[in-house]
Formats: sequence, C-alpha cells, structure tokens
Amino acid sequence: MKTYFRATDPYPLEASDWNKLHGFYDALAAGRLVSTRCDGCGHVAWPPRGFCPECASDRYTWVDLPAEGRIHGFTVQHAGLPAGFTGARVFAIVKVDTHRIFSVIIDADPSTVSIGQRVTLAPIRVDDDPKGNARWLPAFRPA
Ligand SMILES: [Zn+2]
Repeated sequence: MKTYFRATDPYPLEASDWNKLHGFYDALAAGRLVSTRCDGCGHVAWPPRGFCPECASDRYTWVDLPAEGRIHGFTVQHAGLPAGFTGARVFAIVKVDTHRIFSVIIDADPSTVSIGQRVTLAPIRVDDDPKGNARWLPAFRPA
C-alpha cells in the first residue's frame, strides 16, 4: 500500500474493534458482497444495517448479494483525487438486485463507461486502519 500523510482518514473504521457491521468488510475481503436481512421481517437493507428501518428489529443475518450489477449512473472525477489515487476515477451507482450501491469502477476507460453496462464485483484494498487492520471498499469492473 502507498504510504502518505493525511489530516483526516477518508475510509471507514471497518474492523471488529471499531465497527458492529464488520461482517460486511470481512466478506468484501473474501470477494463477496453481503448485506443484512432482518430476522424480524425479512427486509434486506442496503447499506447493511444493525437496526431494521422497516420493523425496528436489531436481529439480522448476513446474506450474499449478487456479485454482478449494472451501472445505473456515473460520473468521472479528473481532478482533486484522494491521496494515493491517480488518473481519472469513475464513480458509479451500481444497481445490484434492487439495491443501488455507490462504488468506483476500476479497470475501465472512462470514455467507454455507459449506463446499463454490466459490471462485476472487484473489491479494492485501501490503506490499513490505525491498528494495522486491512480495509476494503466495494468496487466493480466491466464484466
Ligand atoms: Zn425488519
């Protein structure tokens, strides 16, 4: 990983030391996209939630979401990229099942990205947390 000085940490604290929903990131590290399904009413939330927005239950089970989706909308950032990133970066809302997942599109020429394009899950590793635990974020690449 790249090492750099930063004033603020741009990534979530994902490890179990910090985050009740660490199972999401544990699955991402293993190449799976998961979310929470409420044990009370069956609602599958996005993003994962420890508290059901439909019935207020705090009991949930991790469920796998498909590892494929389609680009619902996107934008290309050319300037002001976060430290450690280079080149134009494609940010997209990827529709997976009924969920709209904010993500980045990797391994894509921004000029060829299009609405409706099929993409597959490709989690990216970002800087470790302050305790040295690996961190991952959702990303997709053209299918
Ligand atoms: Zn519920």
